Amino acid sequence: MRKVSILALFVALTFVFGIVPADVQAKTTFVTIGTGGITGVYYPTGGAIAKMVNAKRKEYGIRATVESTGGSVFNINSIMAGDLEFGVAQSDRQYQAVEGIADWKDKGPQKDLRAVFSIHAETVDLIAAVDANINSIQDLKGKRVNIGNVGSGYRQNAIDALVANGLDFKKDFHAESLKAAEAPGLIQDGRIDAAFYTVGHPSGYYKEATAGVRKVKFIAIPNAEKLIAKYPYYAAAKTLMSNYPGAANNEEAVETFGVKATFVTSAKVSDEVVYAIVKEVFDNFDKFAKLHPAYKGLTKENMLTGLSAPFHPGAMKYYKEVGLK
Ligand code: GLU
Repeated sequence: MRKVSILALFVALTFVFGIVPADVQAKTTFVTIGTGGITGVYYPTGGAIAKMVNAKRKEYGIRATVESTGGSVFNINSIMAGDLEFGVAQSDRQYQAVEGIADWKDKGPQKDLRAVFSIHAETVDLIAAVDANINSIQDLKGKRVNIGNVGSGYRQNAIDALVANGLDFKKDFHAESLKAAEAPGLIQDGRIDAAFYTVGHPSGYYKEATAGVRKVKFIAIPNAEKLIAKYPYYAAAKTLMSNYPGAANNEEAVETFGVKATFVTSAKVSDEVVYAIVKEVFDNFDKFAKLHPAYKGLTKENMLTGLSAPFHPGAMKYYKEVGLK
């Protein structure tokens, strides 16, 4: 009874005067992680990182939530605007933002962008419906092709792949600017013939695209060496068909090029918050690495590569402590 009335008094005081004793105040810092479409790998990656840090909510007072977004460019811009604290972004997009090129040509270098760590590898892929008779990138001529929404990371990869092969999306075919999550369904419905996407594997996107009645296959992207010679952020890569048994491909691997997924933040986010996230992911690395099959091959060391923005000091503090830097 006594307990109840003290509690009631406390609640009433809080309501009436907004008085909460300092030691009872919940000092929760809310952070939001920008990801990508829900059938990509960024969305579960944001979830995996949030899961690690939220497990220690009592210790750190951090509550991380995940937002599905338009992808890399949107995430970087939202972090710079202070609308998101963290985001997943392609390594090529991180580089461009730091240098003030490509999507950041008008805005200039994004000086407050900070690297936290890198994650899985992503490949730039082109899929096409078998009945659309697309057997090479050249066969895209006259077809309906998704090159990606503005704000995605992959749109520029699609454009680069096309340019390297002498194709112009404004002239040679009907280009769509759809969000990745919509494309597999639209291929299956016969509303588009082909689509580009840059993602880690396996992804729900390609599982969905290759599991339907309309047969879909991966098309190699030739001339990647031209892009690799020109841009420091591209590397030769292969997409393994073992991830997608439903794909109408006979070969085991399809030639293309790739980038890395990276985790970024702003210089304005506190050292404590960044440190806590890095510590939870790295101290529990084996647990983290099991949260998505795309993390196969991940090591603590390679999670510090492929980054062009300066490390956030909160991340650097941890890396120095454990001898990774
Ligand atoms: N790389 C894609 C992009 O930034 C997103 C991939 C994903 O969501 O896993 O547009």
